[in-house]
Amino acid sequence: GGASNADHAVQGTSNDAAVSRESAARLGYIEDPFIGYFVRPPQRRAPLINRGTFCRFHGVQNAMCQFAQALNATSSAPSLPDAAGPGQIVVLGAGFDTSYFILEREGLGVGRFFEIDFAEITAKKAATIYRHQPLKSLLPKDTKVALGGSELHSSRYSLISGDLREFRSQIVPKLVENGFDCSQPTLFLSECVLIYLDPQYSDEIIDWVTEAVANAAILTYEQIRPDDRFGQMMIENLRARQLELRGLHAHPTLESTSHRFLTRGWHASTAIDLADYHDRCIDDAERARLASLEFLDEWEEFTLLAQHYAFTFAHSKDAEPFSMLNPL
Ligand code: SAM
Repeated sequence: GGASNADHAVQGTSNDAAVSRESAARLGYIEDPFIGYFVRPPQRRAPLINRGTFCRFHGVQNAMCQFAQALNATSSAPSLPDAAGPGQIVVLGAGFDTSYFILEREGLGVGRFFEIDFAEITAKKAATIYRHQPLKSLLPKDTKVALGGSELHSSRYSLISGDLREFRSQIVPKLVENGFDCSQPTLFLSECVLIYLDPQYSDEIIDWVTEAVANAAILTYEQIRPDDRFGQMMIENLRARQLELRGLHAHPTLESTSHRFLTRGWHASTAIDLADYHDRCIDDAERARLASLEFLDEWEEFTLLAQHYAFTFAHSKDAEPFSMLNPL
């Protein structure tokens, strides 16, 4: 069926995320040589936004790299260039996320990498990848364009179009057709996506993973505490930029975001808000480097903002004990 105005508004948020990431990359906060291809025109974000983007990137990269390294440590023979090695990463609502390219460039590619978003977004992403050699050259050699340009299929990287609200009926069959293997260790990632899904739909995704994938971990980065004054202001800001946005679903507390996974059968779950993550998980040398990039004097505002985002990390009983959220 045709996308509603609300769906268009949700899709528009992928540009916002990419613009912030490009701003942080251009100013030297994060190393992402790929995000620029997806952003036109670039915009410079405020220092506190760039600092937040840095923390978000730091947490996600940490989890992915640890996952990839744990897999490499357990697999014996080096895999053939286009043969799938162990492990899978699934990015829900991937937008213009560049993690696949960053991991490939670092030699940390996992067995299979899946990205899921609405067809409108995956079509733009696929077209951009094909227009830029630095992106295209990192695709597996057997990559094929499918579904009128809205999907990419290959032995190791798949860009899949669909609606996350139809996870079991639409997305799971496409994952399986593209080589998703329920017996592989799998890391799911969701960055600023669940807020747009009615909890009934995100619960369906979470439940499918617990039922189907024995060795699973999930990292979410989502807005929390929508009910206090600052939280309400943030939600209003989101809406002001995308007038059609409605039904935003942020978890009320830090505890509730991790508790959600425990009550739905996951083995362990931890959450940390971004303010704490900044204070406890970014080392002194890195913080000194950030201070040299841009002067940040709105510390109170940064802390307030950062208290309204959280990483939640949950895993099944069989999953490798990733510790990204517990270096504490
Ligand atoms: N994760 C990316 C990042 O951090 O850059 C994109 C974040 S963007 C704020 C939210 C993304 O979720 C958009 O690309 C949007 O299209 C996608 N999304 C939201 N609801 C979705 C749904 N029901 N089905 C598929 N994708 C969805």
